Amino acid sequence: MTASGVAILGATGSIGRSAIRVIGRHSERFFICALTAHRSVAELQALVDEHAPAYAGITDSADAVPAGWGRGAEALVRAATHPGVEVVINAVVGAAGLDATLAALHAGKRVALANKESLVVGGSLVLEAMAHGGGAVVPVDSEHSAILQCLAGRPRSEVRRLVITASGGPFRTWSSERLQTATLADALKHPTWSMGRKITVDSATLANKALEVIEAHLLFGIPYDRIDVVVHPQSIVHSMVEFTDGSVVAQLGVPSMELPILYALTHPDRLEDNGVPRFDPVAASPLTFEPVRHADFPALELGVGAGRKGGVAPAVFNAANEQAVALFLDGRIAFSGIAPAIASALDALGGGADGSRDVLLAADRAARDHVTGLFAC
Ligand code: NAD
Ligand code: MG
Repeated sequence: MTASGVAILGATGSIGRSAIRVIGRHSERFFICALTAHRSVAELQALVDEHAPAYAGITDSADAVPAGWGRGAEALVRAATHPGVEVVINAVVGAAGLDATLAALHAGKRVALANKESLVVGGSLVLEAMAHGGGAVVPVDSEHSAILQCLAGRPRSEVRRLVITASGGPFRTWSSERLQTATLADALKHPTWSMGRKITVDSATLANKALEVIEAHLLFGIPYDRIDVVVHPQSIVHSMVEFTDGSVVAQLGVPSMELPILYALTHPDRLEDNGVPRFDPVAASPLTFEPVRHADFPALELGVGAGRKGGVAPAVFNAANEQAVALFLDGRIAFSGIAPAIASALDALGGGADGSRDVLLAADRAARDHVTGLFAC
């Protein structure tokens, strides 16, 4: 069997580096064909020196870029559609990943999708691109990888309910009063996963879980009223599917993104791999479950509401969240300011009908400007 070329978009990030480790263990099956990073030329240069990809691109750097590298947002699309690439690991953060997801699918590639924002923003466009190009989206997100594995090809008509697990983040046990005092350092201390800063904050607000409910709805075609979220602090049960006969199938594993990354590369097959610690049920015990405290983590219901509403609302939710999180990461707003900013953007801008890429990106832009405007003094 010849090895498949892989593009890693966002190669210098948490998922990107995990993907490089996974591919390194399976060089008989996969090789790195294209790599992109956003700002750090030096970090990407080190990866290029080590892996010699056919294509390298940097999306937004003030530094000098080596001759032959791609530049700007276009570099993501070029990497994603490179003729030597069969699988695109989209590990970019934010709506910036949308065009690459669409281009890869139109070109008939498999997209191993970590960049859930592109699916949330471009839902119907992504599904259309898949149908048009014959490409496929295989989720990297651990919950969706779990659901895909639990479904095991059974039809939607046999599914009663999806149950998505959430760690609950660093503030799971904080009172509503204490949440008002949460700092950036507190928000970045995720109890079970080591991830990029934006998704770590999304896990603290539970906005990440809203993005994941929308992602599950789009990937698996299950209506919103049959997708539930439960808090599971140990992050061992990655999600569950309840079937119509009452049987519930769950997928378990140690909390390492290398497992769903490998599965996204090989689905529906499996490759022998010993890269992560073996699962020990006794050491993992006890496994516990609790309800979501919706009143204290309103971003979850705001996002699911946007998903139910459809049209531009998911794009507005995502962009308002991205902008509010960026302001929080810059120390310009409080943690408790994130959800109200999203709510304000949805109230002002969330009503538009579904549309073309240009309509969705205009809604994205307007939502970012709206949130910036809320905090301008
Ligand atoms: P990260 O911040 O560690 O890495 C992001 C990568 O994208 C970097 O290589 C960066 O250079 C690049 N990038 C940043 N902004 C960009 C832009 N505007 N255009 C192009 N490239 C850009 O993030 P991460 O934790 O690896 O997450 C990446 C994606 O995977 C996110 O969508 C996240 O929600 C999703 N995800 C992450 C995890 C995890 O465990 N880290 C789990 C599930 C899903
Ligand atoms: Mg997840």
